[in-house]
Amino acid sequence: MADKIEREDNRRDWQMDKISVVVPCWNEEEALPIYYREMNQVMERMSQGTEKETLDFELIFVDDGSSDGTYRIMKELNLRDARCRYLSFSRNFGKEAAIYAGLKAATGDYVAVMDVDLQDPPALLPDMYDILKNEAYDSVATKRSTRTGEPRIRSFLSESFYKLVNKISKTEIVSGARDYRLMNRKMVDAVLDMSEYNRFSKGIFGWVGFRTKWLEFENVERSAGETKWSLKKLFCYSMEGITGFSVAPLSLASIVGVLFCGLSFFMILVIIVRTLVWGDPVSGWPSLACIIFMVSGVQLLCTGIVGQYLSKTYLETKHRPIFILKDSSEEGEKR
Ligand code: UDP
Ligand code: MG
Repeated sequence: MADKIEREDNRRDWQMDKISVVVPCWNEEEALPIYYREMNQVMERMSQGTEKETLDFELIFVDDGSSDGTYRIMKELNLRDARCRYLSFSRNFGKEAAIYAGLKAATGDYVAVMDVDLQDPPALLPDMYDILKNEAYDSVATKRSTRTGEPRIRSFLSESFYKLVNKISKTEIVSGARDYRLMNRKMVDAVLDMSEYNRFSKGIFGWVGFRTKWLEFENVERSAGETKWSLKKLFCYSMEGITGFSVAPLSLASIVGVLFCGLSFFMILVIIVRTLVWGDPVSGWPSLACIIFMVSGVQLLCTGIVGQYLSKTYLETKHRPIFILKDSSEEGEKR
């Protein structure tokens, strides 16, 4: 019996693990070759384990509708190195769609999501793999311990967003968390089961659960190119996070409504008493105008909140595809 168990263990040890790395790219012709060079070294280092620890890799580059040479470079990498695959979108669908497409295409036992600009250090990958292999975790995620190099206003807004969303949502969304993480197959399948149109990965990773270990690293500046996130894009992204993982703003509308009803009832009483005691001089229209402005403002705000949720529901019910492929390495091979 013991002999049989040992043989089984050996077979399991000899099995070759495959790590897929999903890399969303949008106009990254400068950063892509630098990334490949760096990642290649990491893959070499990881593959040179003992005989028993053979490792296979696949890099899935997702071209999110780039208008520069990104797609061409991906094709070249695919011709040069069979481990490099690519998916190319028909237009820019956003990083979230790129992550989803990459996870869907990944065939590895372990799947990582990594930015192409080296702000997610590939050098962390060996440690992440070791943790998943040897400890009882399903995922290793990363977060930045510092925000050096980032504009102050951006850091302030980000931190305020995380504070707010964690207060109103049951799903924990970790401040400073990157999308950079390595997951096992079980967790990847769970993430793929969440095929919602309005995607917010930081929330989805938290929502599916599983045991996650957090690694911290110091913020790294972009290797090349520029950030793709404007303040406006970040604002829309944060709205995605709030509406996707909390319905508290909807209750807020009702709470404000009840408070205002109470307040107006109290004011009616005050006015009746005042009129009975001091008579009814016609005055006070400026305060009345202010009240009308404020109440209609609150009403519009509440309608707006309901509208936000309605618009998300509207898009969700249309069941539009999350991304549309124009080309992929698999189609390229068929041709
Ligand atoms: N990205 C993408 N589609 C987009 C925006 C960004 O695929 O619409 C990719 C981008 O190429 C990069 C990653 O997402 O690999 C992170 O983008 P960026 O570095 O601009 O964000 P930051 O690190 O500044 O938050
Ligand atoms: Mg970046």
